Amino acid sequence: MAVREQSKTTGFVLRTLNYSESDLIVTFYSHDFGKLKGIAKGAKRSKKRFANVFEPFSLTNIIFTRKSRDMLAFIESCDIIDHFPAIRQDMEKTLIASYFIDLTDHFSPEGKKNEKIFELLRDFLLLLGKEKASDTLVRFFEMRLLKLAGFDPVLEHCIVCKTPVTNGNAYYFHAQEGGIKCGACAKVPRYEQPISAGTVRTLLLGKKMDIDKIKLVALTQSLAIESRCILTSFITHVLGREVKSLKVMEQVRKYCA
Ligand SMILES: [Zn+2]
Repeated sequence: MAVREQSKTTGFVLRTLNYSESDLIVTFYSHDFGKLKGIAKGAKRSKKRFANVFEPFSLTNIIFTRKSRDMLAFIESCDIIDHFPAIRQDMEKTLIASYFIDLTDHFSPEGKKNEKIFELLRDFLLLLGKEKASDTLVRFFEMRLLKLAGFDPVLEHCIVCKTPVTNGNAYYFHAQEGGIKCGACAKVPRYEQPISAGTVRTLLLGKKMDIDKIKLVALTQSLAIESRCILTSFITHVLGREVKSLKVMEQVRKYCA
């Protein structure tokens, strides 16, 4: 008989699913095991054993057992490390945090460890708690996650003629081909919106810029619109569907603006 091995890790709660009247299936993004799914027996009944720990994007200490790596983990205990109260008391920040974890969930296969993705989530949630909610935070998170997940869009040069991005030129983003084309290479229909070299450069900067400096970057309206346009179309193309929490976030923003 296989022996259940006990493991410990820290992880962000990505989502929960009601399993029965009293049990929950919880998906975490963990430091040591990547995306991890486990069952919390009695979580809905025993408030003492799992006191409000399974809220989305909470950071927790998890102790679990499982027979093998591809089996559902049995969550023995789970305690809060950070509940991110500064995010939770602000609706816009809560929506952004929900989008961060949703995107992490979509881009992470189960059981594949990636410490850098864990750190990205931790750094951006801490930043979101401290700083103002902004488009910069959302776009730079997307850029970094895409890179770590291996879906970096090509923005350094035209994907056809390879000419590096030059200030003052207009570019066109092609989600299906995963990058930008210059005006000469793109067969541009009249309705297509060009993207400025400034937008392209800002997104490239966001990929590697020091985390403490991100708060200093404010996107102008046209830059914000162009960046959103590029990244949303690309993410939708890569995933083959829209990310629901992004739609909710955009709708609420429009409503509150
Ligand atoms: Zn070109």
